[in-house]
Amino acid sequence: MPLGPARRDGPGVPLDPAPRDRQGAGVGGVAAVRPARLVVISGTGTEVGKTWVGAALLREGRRRGLRVAARKPLQSFSPGAHSLDSEVLAAASGEPASDVCPEERSFPAPMAPPMAAEALGRPLPTMAAVVSLLEASWPAGSCDLAVVEGAGGVASPLTEDGHTADLAGRLRADVVVLVANPSLGVINSARLAVAALAPARVIVHLNRFDPADDLHRRNAAWLTERDRFEVTSSIAGLVDRLLEP
Ligand SMILES: [Mg+2]
Repeated sequence: MPLGPARRDGPGVPLDPAPRDRQGAGVGGVAAVRPARLVVISGTGTEVGKTWVGAALLREGRRRGLRVAARKPLQSFSPGAHSLDSEVLAAASGEPASDVCPEERSFPAPMAPPMAAEALGRPLPTMAAVVSLLEASWPAGSCDLAVVEGAGGVASPLTEDGHTADLAGRLRADVVVLVANPSLGVINSARLAVAALAPARVIVHLNRFDPADDLHRRNAAWLTERDRFEVTSSIAGLVDRLLEP
């Protein structure tokens, strides 16, 4: 489904034949091993709670004894923002924020990352560079669950030549968690986003779901029963789903 110009390796076109356990160069010469579960977090739009869900997922994973890692390959923000996504994710995963998002991929301008880079006169990141940096950045040894947060929605510009749906394909993510607001409009936005992410496996996570809200319940049921989407509405339920064999 064409959503913007970026998807070069669209549905049906084989991605590069990297084995799932490919080893990267690693940090300090230690081989980086692909995490056992690689989860990309995206959303139906901006400000839907991707970082909140990612951090909650990491905390719940650690509570269950999993080794976790978080990556925010690019971030942009208003100068003076009180906390950056990389800091929130790092606090949850127990890593340094600079491991979550390298300084050179952090742009203090409230625009899509490649646009922010351009506005700041800094080099525009490419998808290939982002993917190879990520693949070399996994913790040495083993990692049970890695959470990679995109920027904006699935089709928002992430690099000069790609968006989060491209990133998920290039990383061969095991699952994409699509964070969505359970209120009016979610069926439309979830359908468009799931189509843009195909053929990835997607779990639609209804953030701020209120079981007492009739519309929330009806939206969840519609997406589950009619669209046959995988839908979760609690962090524990999401982690259970992610850890299924
Ligand atoms: Mg975020």
